[in-house]
Amino acid sequence: MRLQAVDRPRSRSRALQKRTESLSDVGEFGLIDRIRKRATSGRRGAVRIGIGDDAAVVRPGALSELLATTDLLLEGIHFDLSYTDFYSLGWKSAAVNLSDIAAMGGEPRFCLTALGISSGVKPEQVLDFYRGVNDLLGMHHAELIGGDTCASRTDLFISVTVIGEVKRGRAVLRSGARPGDLIFVTGTLGDAAAGLELLSRGVRQTSKGRQIPQRKPSRHEAYLLKRHLRPEPRVSEGMALSRSGCASSMIDISDGLSSDLLHICKQSGVGAEVREGAIPLSPALIRMQEHLTRPGLTHALSGGEDYELLFTVPPSRLVKLRSLALPVTQIGMVRKGRSLVLIGQDEKKRTCGPCGFDHFSRVSAAERA
Ligand code: ADP
Ligand code: MG
Repeated sequence: MRLQAVDRPRSRSRALQKRTESLSDVGEFGLIDRIRKRATSGRRGAVRIGIGDDAAVVRPGALSELLATTDLLLEGIHFDLSYTDFYSLGWKSAAVNLSDIAAMGGEPRFCLTALGISSGVKPEQVLDFYRGVNDLLGMHHAELIGGDTCASRTDLFISVTVIGEVKRGRAVLRSGARPGDLIFVTGTLGDAAAGLELLSRGVRQTSKGRQIPQRKPSRHEAYLLKRHLRPEPRVSEGMALSRSGCASSMIDISDGLSSDLLHICKQSGVGAEVREGAIPLSPALIRMQEHLTRPGLTHALSGGEDYELLFTVPPSRLVKLRSLALPVTQIGMVRKGRSLVLIGQDEKKRTCGPCGFDHFSRVSAAERA
């Protein structure tokens, strides 16, 4: 696509222009060429034509179904360039999509990235972004096969699409939960939301991010920051669950446990009961919670961006699940009805609505403020 003409600031000094290349020095096609040279190669032979033609040509496996997912990441909504470095931003942009493929039980294969690049961004920052994208894709044998590049008059705008594969009939849907199924999550919850709270209070990562922290974060803080900035999608766990046929339904936790579990409930026509005391919290979150504005459990229930998997398992498949030796915790049980009931440490029950992230409610709240 043609690069839209954007008014470039003319007042920049020559010295500055000499020191760092600008996007107008490199140009749209120069930038795409650098992105192409850095693209990872996935499993050999699957990509006939990658970056460089009008469209990529890929070969899906003969016995598979394709999964397709896309996510938008907007500056000021999903990320803040004062919080994140470009490497982490690239990593996370790919991770949120890989997590959606994982939640279907699929294997990520191909990735497309569309960027609206704001005028202050430097070519090396774009290439750092792609280092992050490619490092994560490479870990999962997926490949960058195309995208689009435009100048943005306002903020940085990122759209990532991932195509995955799953064996025919093996995709794990949100709609398969049945009363009596057990509810599990991978890993720990609430870390990413706690990390975001730390970032919003000025705690910064050190090292590669090239950011100068006001003070070095503690070990626990650094862990929580990393969980927010560079989430690790549960691709191998999702694939193991689909291949083994253990999971009756699955979703990834992007909006918070309560909201995402309610998505499963709605689409499966069931209710759920969750034991608060069973929700897994990381040692870092437990240690840090007295310094946070909200308890760890609240971050776990409503924080979001954990990119862990939430899934249900019929009791008859429990032994099989255990044999997979995945890092999972049982947190509750699927019930008849429609509601999500939380059982407190004191055995008291309360009904919980969706309290996770909702783009439009936040926008309207901000507008009201
Ligand atoms: P067209 O104008 O036909 O859409 P482009 O010049 O936009 O072609 O893109 C040329 C090639 O470069 C295509 O293969 C496209 O997928 C790829 N491409 C463009 N921008 C990016 C990007 N940001 N990341 C990865 N690939 C890109
Ligand atoms: Mg194009």
